Amino acid sequence: MQESGKRARGRGTSGKAGSPRAESIKETPKAPSGPRILVVSPEIVPLAKTGGLGDVAGSLPLALAALGCDVRVAMPLYKAVKVPSKPVAELEVPLGRALFEVAREERDGRVQENYKVVYPGKDVSARAVIREAVLGGRIPAYLVDNPPFYDRDQLYGYPDDVARFGFFSRTVLEMLDRIGWVPDVIHCNDWQSAMVPTYLRLFYKPSGRFSGVGTVFTIHNMEYQGNFDRSAIDILGLGWELFTMEGVEFWGQVSMMKAGILYSDMVNTVSEGYSREIQTPDFGGRMDGVLRAASGKLRGIVNGIDYDFWDPARDTALESRFNARSSGSRTANKAALQKELGLKQDPDAFLLGFIGRLSAQKGLDILVPAVQDLLCMGCQLAVLGTGDDYYMKQLSQVAGSDPERLSVMLRFDDRMARRIYAGTDAFLMPSRYEPCGLGQMICGRYGSVPIVRRTGGLADTVRDAILYGDGTGFLFEDYTSDALTEAVRKAGEVFRDRERWTAIKVQGMEKDFSWKASAARYLELYKETMARARGK
Ligand code: ADP
Repeated sequence: MQESGKRARGRGTSGKAGSPRAESIKETPKAPSGPRILVVSPEIVPLAKTGGLGDVAGSLPLALAALGCDVRVAMPLYKAVKVPSKPVAELEVPLGRALFEVAREERDGRVQENYKVVYPGKDVSARAVIREAVLGGRIPAYLVDNPPFYDRDQLYGYPDDVARFGFFSRTVLEMLDRIGWVPDVIHCNDWQSAMVPTYLRLFYKPSGRFSGVGTVFTIHNMEYQGNFDRSAIDILGLGWELFTMEGVEFWGQVSMMKAGILYSDMVNTVSEGYSREIQTPDFGGRMDGVLRAASGKLRGIVNGIDYDFWDPARDTALESRFNARSSGSRTANKAALQKELGLKQDPDAFLLGFIGRLSAQKGLDILVPAVQDLLCMGCQLAVLGTGDDYYMKQLSQVAGSDPERLSVMLRFDDRMARRIYAGTDAFLMPSRYEPCGLGQMICGRYGSVPIVRRTGGLADTVRDAILYGDGTGFLFEDYTSDALTEAVRKAGEVFRDRERWTAIKVQGMEKDFSWKASAARYLELYKETMARARGK
């Protein structure tokens, strides 16, 4: 029942969100007068994170609250969640006609779990407790507690994910009456919450329940579609008449993402570039036709980053804190990073960083073969990442080859990530494709100049310093190791011209990637959604 071919999102970490900085918010709280928005996401910083989705779902609500929205969030209560919360409701939530049975067997001292779909011959339901926490001092967070589903080491990647997230989505709708707060718009993120608009449209609106509630579905990455075998129809409690090309059937499977696209009032993705790309066969993950058919309600809004959470002037993980005006004091961070990683203490070495999920998307296929060339060119390289075994193995093979120049850390480590952003000269993002990408914005703010492939959100957010006087980084076209190496070589030449390099670095640091502009665009999208929902 595992997602076939496409792995569930997540890098196989505990999913614990890094630093607790999101708890800070400076604006004085005022009573919200704007629309009521419920952001539903399978990961939200600081509660849980495996990637950029967690950052976005944590910081967008704070920015919306600053714009006057009455914003609340919902997420499953995973084992990794460590914030205090109190129970506010307990409810019995309908599931489908089938469920998973999990049998735990001990073999050779190892516990093995076997999952099988069973049909009890009647509708099934399960109990959920809704617990409430508070984020950023003012955002209510509803945590869906069902220990058999969510009290596990990982966030995703289990054979019964279809049931776990179907249940989560259904519970979110069922809890609204119980918490006495009905949103104007439910903003769902990725396939794990895609059943919210689906259930709303199919099970609630026909009887007039929540009839004025609009839905937005945000696609953060086309690769993670939530496709499951056809028994998902029974597990999710859908009618078999939906198992058609016009419905939720997708290449013989059931696709949660397709359902989200079909049944939401509005759909968006995380950059304008990516919203165009995903309507083509090269980037659409076989969903391009579905997206072209939905193009009238499809938008692109680039992500921002939380400027409180990512602030080199206040980041306690750094050796030395700095801002655009004092970027010279980055040198202490570079020296400290070289020391900590065992790299040669050389202020003139061109120190590169890479942080990310180790997956084909992130360009490991061209990065790994380029490593030796980069080291031969005299660069130093710090790699921090975790993910696919294949790339973990490839990186561990090159890891020890040149300890004075190369450091490979195969783990998830928020503190180290911050030290790399602050201590490297340039930051590599050779992505095969990139819906938005946060790394290039974070490194820019921390004064590490991005060297990126011209795709999706990277192309939208990095301005070419070779072509433009107000450039902020370096871009290359071809998805090849040679193109990457050549881009680093060109950047390395510019690096030796200290004045020009400083100008590029400072231009990047001064660029505004805060949520301000993007949150305003989300507010417009919500207003359009409300108009559509009410007009229907
Ligand atoms: P993704 O496709 O994974 O969402 P993004 O660039 O949008 O990629 O966001 C990645 C986020 O996860 C950034 O905040 C980055 O710093 C963080 N990150 C990725 N890998 C690691 C790691 N191994 N350790 C710490 N932080 C990481």
